[in-house]
Amino acid sequence: MGNYWMEAPLSERYQRVRDGLAEACRAAGRSPADVTLLAVSKRHPDEAVRALAALGQVDFGENQVQAFEARRAALSDLPLRWHLIGPLQTNKARHVAAAPPHLLHTVDRPALVEALARRWERPAPLDVLIQVDIDREAQKSGCAPEALDALADLVSATPALRLRGLMCIPRPATVASPRAAFARTRAALEAIRDRVDLTAGAPVLSMGMSDDYPDAIAEGSTLVRVGTAIFGARD
Ligand SMILES: *Cc1c(COP(=O)(O)O)cnc(C)c1O
Repeated sequence: MGNYWMEAPLSERYQRVRDGLAEACRAAGRSPADVTLLAVSKRHPDEAVRALAALGQVDFGENQVQAFEARRAALSDLPLRWHLIGPLQTNKARHVAAAPPHLLHTVDRPALVEALARRWERPAPLDVLIQVDIDREAQKSGCAPEALDALADLVSATPALRLRGLMCIPRPATVASPRAAFARTRAALEAIRDRVDLTAGAPVLSMGMSDDYPDAIAEGSTLVRVGTAIFGARD
């Protein structure tokens, strides 16, 4: 019974996440309009994306460049915003330049900034977030907190890119406190705020997933990336 809703129809799970998001905003004294729900569709079929789009969902995320490209091609008839949320190899920069995401969440090192800038040929810049390795898991992707200042300088000095904010993936709640990691990420954004470009809107804090988005919203998240709670378990 406990997890019965994971078996529920997509529409029911989606409504449940939207209700949870609204409740977390109420609890934090924030407006739901200030938090974007990004549906992470990785490894789920195109039909599930179409069904969710029919329910009004607009922002979707994929974590691999190939899956991102396949999805955009298969669903080009839908007016969706596709985000790239997974680690990016430098040699994939030309893929990003050829078919840019609405927002790239994972800029984390100077070599990637330089590769993107070299490939970028459009007049308008690419909107990006810097991913911070907020729990200092050196083997994972993300910029070390002490390297953030210099990377923010570099991104903001790169005309091809527009720095919109930060993204983080904390360690799971079983080994650390995601809420503390979210609070540190918010403080990190405050520290680089003078380099965030505000011409396209308020600073973006991409943090919170299926298991921890209420804590992320309590700590100021403006964009939660939710997969499992909407689409069900992945293969
Ligand atoms: C898969 C993924 C998510 C969604 O995770 P869930 O626990 O299924 O909600 C969020 N962010 C990133 C970067 C991911 O790769």
